[in-house]
Amino acid sequence: MTFTITTPLYYVNDKPHLGSVYTTIICDSIARYKRLLGEKVIFITGVDEHGLKIQRTASEKKVSPQSHCDEISDSFIENWKKWEISFDKFIRTSSEHHANIVNEFYQKVIKSDDIYMGIQKGWYCVGCEEFKDNPDNSPLAQCPIHKKNLEWRDEENLFFRLSKYQNQIEELINKEDFIEPKERKNEIINFVSKGLKDFSISRTNLDWGIKVPDHNSHTFYVWFDALLGYISAISMEESKNTLEDSIVMGWPANIHIIGKDILRFHAIYWPAMLLSAGISPPKKVFGHGFLTREGQKMGKSLGNILDPEILLTKYGNEAVRWYLLKDIALGNDGDFQNKRFVDIINNDLANTIGNLLNRSSSMSRKWFNNKTPNLEDKNDSKIKDYANKTIDKYISFFEKYKIDLASNEILKFAIFINLYLNDKQPWTLIKDDKNIEDVKFIIYNVLESCRIIGLLLQPILPNLSCNILIQLGQLNNDNKSWKEKLNWGLLPLDYELPEPKPIINKLDYD
Ligand SMILES: [Zn+2]
Repeated sequence: MTFTITTPLYYVNDKPHLGSVYTTIICDSIARYKRLLGEKVIFITGVDEHGLKIQRTASEKKVSPQSHCDEISDSFIENWKKWEISFDKFIRTSSEHHANIVNEFYQKVIKSDDIYMGIQKGWYCVGCEEFKDNPDNSPLAQCPIHKKNLEWRDEENLFFRLSKYQNQIEELINKEDFIEPKERKNEIINFVSKGLKDFSISRTNLDWGIKVPDHNSHTFYVWFDALLGYISAISMEESKNTLEDSIVMGWPANIHIIGKDILRFHAIYWPAMLLSAGISPPKKVFGHGFLTREGQKMGKSLGNILDPEILLTKYGNEAVRWYLLKDIALGNDGDFQNKRFVDIINNDLANTIGNLLNRSSSMSRKWFNNKTPNLEDKNDSKIKDYANKTIDKYISFFEKYKIDLASNEILKFAIFINLYLNDKQPWTLIKDDKNIEDVKFIIYNVLESCRIIGLLLQPILPNLSCNILIQLGQLNNDNKSWKEKLNWGLLPLDYELPEPKPIINKLDYD
């Protein structure tokens, strides 16, 4: 079974901002989790390169749209490498392969008799690449999102018969799992209930786009083009690279993770386009929330935009991942607070998890000849049960994309083990020789718990997980699957432990 997951195809007006980093980290973590379960994963990201806004940005910079796109597209790839994003496909919508897939798809939609020529009149936001309702028809109409003046359009466009799919779309969006989270689902249901209108899928007087066959002066509307990137990505750089090949290899997508602002395109227009072409819609569309900073919306005018590259350099990948994945419930808005960030990283990762590992491995090395203890009956059933329950809950949360709750299960387990250690006080017991078997028992169970913690952190914090497992001598030491490794009691007895090093550095306040 193939598991296909996508980030949005990011618009190339600028290098990645924190919001794109957030979406991409979520997808990365889910992709890593599915790979650990042994599933074949296709993790797709990429860039949406066409449209009027890009053409204008390029002309302001006095470069060609293509060279502008090359530059920004490279910066996305660079960035995802720095963030160690494990994507499998990076699609560029200006590629020839993508244009071929769009054309193939368009022919199928024509065959369904879903394309016609009409007149498009209305107020257009170039920033949104979308027509806006403007009941008072004022020439000063502004986009509520971009706060920029709308532009009046009156031109011949090709239209897609969205209205024909009213019933099918209603059925789809009412399905239990198609749209998440639930609040967003209701917004979409409400919108659709007002009646779907056909929408124009071509633009005239716009060169920077894919030319519509048989209509020389038209290019495809940027959304009609970009959404297909999710499918064209699958067969890019493959020897078989038609639309059909893409579908066979990995469609429908299991999940599109997107910002809540583009949910309508993904939950309504895109499935209708696919139904028209006789292709299955995606299985799920998940709209995540927006990030604010210290309770305020980030924006150029406020001068409070948080640059993800600065965060990465200053705090490192794992710290930022932990904050975004553990502290924000997927679907909710999240707030980035510097003090809270530093506290969470220091408490959770450096103290609760890091110190637990360092303390217990130091004690084991000191008392047992640089090794794990050697004992007959090694399992504390209370801890073993707690570990197994943690694993079960973690998996059931991850399956529902509740990464924050899965992360919190790991943390709760680590807190429980810290309490166990403090309660048992092996450093006091060791002073009397007759307690030696008890000490071995305690240390073994704590070290084994650290191994489980390290494994569970793998999709969330891949490097930190690695550091934990290295310190236990347990990185890639056998051919067992991740799930098999989660069985309790696999940490070997009387086994050499490397010298402990902090798994993460403590952070300072600004
Ligand atoms: Zn706008």
